[in-house]
Amino acid sequence: MSTAAIDRVVAEIEAAADEAVAFTRDLVRVPTVNPPGEAYEDCARLIGERLAGCGLEVEYFAAEGRPEHTARHPRINVVGTRRGRGLKPVVHLNGHFDVVPAGDGWTRDPFGGEVENGRIYGRGSCDMKAGIAAAFFAVEAIRRAGIELAGSVEISGTVDEESGGFAGVAWLAEHGRLSAVRTDYVIIPEPLYVDRICVGHRGVYWFEVLTRGRMAHGSMPFLGTSAIDHMGLVLDRMRRELLPRLASRTTAVPVIPPAARHATLNVNGIEGGQKVHGIQTPCVADTCRAVFDRRFLLEEGFDATKAEIAALLDAVAADVPELRYELKDLMVVHPVRTPDGSPVVAALDRALHHVLGRGGELVASPGTYDQKHVARIAGVPHCVAYGPGILDLAHQPDEYCAVEDLVTATKVIALAVMELAGGIG
Ligand SMILES: [Zn+2]
Repeated sequence: MSTAAIDRVVAEIEAAADEAVAFTRDLVRVPTVNPPGEAYEDCARLIGERLAGCGLEVEYFAAEGRPEHTARHPRINVVGTRRGRGLKPVVHLNGHFDVVPAGDGWTRDPFGGEVENGRIYGRGSCDMKAGIAAAFFAVEAIRRAGIELAGSVEISGTVDEESGGFAGVAWLAEHGRLSAVRTDYVIIPEPLYVDRICVGHRGVYWFEVLTRGRMAHGSMPFLGTSAIDHMGLVLDRMRRELLPRLASRTTAVPVIPPAARHATLNVNGIEGGQKVHGIQTPCVADTCRAVFDRRFLLEEGFDATKAEIAALLDAVAADVPELRYELKDLMVVHPVRTPDGSPVVAALDRALHHVLGRGGELVASPGTYDQKHVARIAGVPHCVAYGPGILDLAHQPDEYCAVEDLVTATKVIALAVMELAGGIG
C-alpha cells in the first residue's frame, strides 16, 4: 500500500468529517431503545439507504425464528457489501444500533443529537452509533480516494447487543451470513478508546439461587423457617469466603479497568416472601430468590466457576439442616480472546502508528460484546473491538462521542481495512 494512497484516504476522511458527524446525529435521533427494541426497522433502513447510496449491495435480515422478533418490535439487521477485484479476503465491520434506555440525569435531549464543543451528545452516540458512522466513512473514503480493494468489505448494523445479541450478530452467525468460510476478519467499532485494541472479554455466569423455608404465622416465627434468613446465610458466606478468593485471582488477559482483572460477583437482585408494597399478611417467608452476576476469568473456565458456587451452597446447607435451595443457570457467556499474532490486531496496530504515532494498547473488556458470537458461533477468531469513544461514558447520562475521536477512529479503521482487504493503487 503506497504512502500516497494512505494520504489520499486520510484526506478524504478529514474532508468528510462534517458528513460523519451528521450521519452520527441522524442515527442518534432514531430512538432504538432496548428493551424493548424500538424503531429498529427505521434505523436499519437509515443505515441500509446510506450504504446503498454509496454503491454497497444491501441485504436486510429479519431475525425469523427468534421469539423477540415480533410484529410490534421487529428485529431487522442490515448488511452492506462492497466487492473488490475478488471476493476474498472479506473484512466485516459490525456495529449494533440498539441503545440502552436514556435513564435519568440528562442535561440534554438524549435523542436530539446535539453537537457542542466538538462533542456529539445523545444516548448511543458513543455506544455505538459513532462507531457505525466510522465504519461507513472508512469504507466510503477508500472509494472516494479511488482505491480498489482486492477483497470485499462488509458493514453490518445489528440489533440487541445490549440484551445479548441473539437476534443480531448471533442470528447472522447461526444463519451463515457470518462464518469461518465466508468471513476472514471482523472489527467491531465499540467505544474502547481510539488508542486501544480490544481483544476479548471475561466470561459471564448469571445464575439464580432459590431458598425455600416453611410458612408460619408472623407472630410465631419460631414455628417456621424463613427463606430470607437462609438467603442471608448464603450471602454472608459468599461475602466471607468467596469474595476474598475471587479478588485474589488475576487474569493474564489485559482487562480494563485493572480492577476488573479479577473475578467478580454482583447480586443483581433479590426478592423474598411477600411483596413489600403489596397487601401485608403476617407470614414467615417461604421462598427467597436472588440473581447473581459472576464474571469469570479465562483461566477459571465455566465448569470450575459453577462448581465453586454449588460447593458453597452445599456447605451452607450442611451447616443448616432445614435449608433447601435450588441453583439455576440463567446465562453463560464464555470468555473470548483474539489469538496472539492475529492479522487484524497487527493491521490496526500499524494503522494506529500511522495515525497517532504510536501503537495500540491491547485491552480486554470487563463486560461482553458481540465478539463472543463471532468467535463461538461463526468460528471467526480474527475479531477485535476498535472504535471511537470512551467506554466509561457508555450507558451514562449525557453520553457523548468527541468528533476528534470519530475522525481518528475512521482513519485507523480505513487503513486497517486497506491492509486486510488488500488495497490496490
Ligand atoms: Zn456497545
